[in-house]
Amino acid sequence: MGETKYIFVTGGVASSLGKGIISSSIGKLLQARGYKVTIQKFDPYINIDPGTLNPYEHGECYVTVDGHEADLDLGHYERFLGIQTTKANNITTGRIYKSVIDKERRGDFLGKTIQVIPHITDEIKRNVKLLGNKYKFDFVITEIGGTVGDIESLPYLESIRQLKWELGQNALCVHLTYVPFLAAAGELKTKPTQHSVKELQSLGVQPDVLVLRTEHNLNMSLRKKVALFCNVAEEAVVQSIDASTIYEVPLLMQEQGLDETILKKMGLPTGEKPNLEPWKEFLKRRSQATDEVKIALVGKYVELQDAYKSILESLSQAATYNDHKLKIEYVQSEQLTEANVDEKLGHVNGVVICPGFGSRGIEGKFVAAKYTREHDIPTFGICLGMQCIAIEFARNVLGYPDANSVEFNEKTPHNIIDIMEEQKAITNMGGTMRLGAFECIINKNSKAYQAYKQEHIQERHRHRYEFNNDYRKQFEDNGMKCVGVNPESDLVEIVEIPALKWYIGTQFHPEYSSTVLNPHPLFISFIKAAIGK
Ligand code: GLN
Repeated sequence: MGETKYIFVTGGVASSLGKGIISSSIGKLLQARGYKVTIQKFDPYINIDPGTLNPYEHGECYVTVDGHEADLDLGHYERFLGIQTTKANNITTGRIYKSVIDKERRGDFLGKTIQVIPHITDEIKRNVKLLGNKYKFDFVITEIGGTVGDIESLPYLESIRQLKWELGQNALCVHLTYVPFLAAAGELKTKPTQHSVKELQSLGVQPDVLVLRTEHNLNMSLRKKVALFCNVAEEAVVQSIDASTIYEVPLLMQEQGLDETILKKMGLPTGEKPNLEPWKEFLKRRSQATDEVKIALVGKYVELQDAYKSILESLSQAATYNDHKLKIEYVQSEQLTEANVDEKLGHVNGVVICPGFGSRGIEGKFVAAKYTREHDIPTFGICLGMQCIAIEFARNVLGYPDANSVEFNEKTPHNIIDIMEEQKAITNMGGTMRLGAFECIINKNSKAYQAYKQEHIQERHRHRYEFNNDYRKQFEDNGMKCVGVNPESDLVEIVEIPALKWYIGTQFHPEYSSTVLNPHPLFISFIKAAIGK
């Protein structure tokens, strides 16, 4: 196509309006037209990456194939576009400053005073263009975290201002705002949008497209009014109304010609409207499914919608491909006991034992693993969940009541889950786990193989502890098989109990690689087993 085009997505009025979904939807529509697209997220916080953040702060920590601990929006980008993102797709203010300070220490700035403008903004601009320059993308969509008006967003908005000036038609700004409905007055209000656009304009950035989040349909006269007050063309004011699933948003945007508006504004031909066939087929199956599959999520962040985002999306995609509707029951592991486990898990079709760190709620996970093993309920243990499955097995089948992970008891005499050798000397917590995609070889005689239908797989990891190979033989002799192993390190990556319907634990996180058009085989086979229960 020639030069890379840059689309910036900013947000106003309130946070959590779904910039990630809008960015992904725009990306999807452009990709469907044959363009090479990537999406990146710039987060204004000071942390180097979200890897050390508590899920209460920012929800799930997503992991890229190259081992970057990333914002959960990268999960949306991958699920919508079917692309793989990398470390370069997620930048924080901390990274920007670190890189500038490192350069300063090296003497790269030749004695100059280092300032937000131009040094920080130059570093932001360099990062905006990095992927476009390196991989020759047709479009690079850059989502700016936070809300216009935040102090910490200022250097990013200033960088957008400069880039729009430098790149002309090759840069465009999509601003997402919110149009509240005042029930008492029975009216939709555009004033917050007007103020938010004014705030952007005061920083020298004129949005080219406005996407208005709303719970009610916005009529033409309201859109015209917004266009008039905000210096935006009428056709460039679109609504993003609440949808039954986030995967409908690309179609809702396409109906309003958002992709065409963007192409025209960037001087590109519009050509034929892509029909998005497989995507529509997925949505059709999703809306036609009526039978429910009930899955319990046993974890400690159950009150947080975003903490297990990728797991939820993977389960719901798999339910769709099994023509079922997903019903999630959140089970707080801290409150799960031998006394109430039957009431909490007895009626569900399948149980996911969630990943996590630290000992809070851990005993409840053992209770869940024991109950589902004894009652043959399809069970999927992911990362810490796999470790819990193994520990429970050691406690109640191998007869080691004190079996544990050294994460929870450093002195446990039966360290079923041990600290990895290369982790022992590590003191810095940021970015030092076993991270990213590693190879795993699957035993052909296993349920895991039946799901994957291939021996060599690559899956993403994020953990410090591992299955202790000293116990492997005892596990296998007693019915829990180590069916997936890393060929280089010999680390156990998948365990399963073949005698049960579906009882599998993975040390890796399959949820990071399940996409709308390429759902993950393990989730598909887990849901299938759950339906059969
Ligand atoms: N806390 C465990 C470990 O570090 C599991 C991590 C996880 O579930 N992501 O090994």
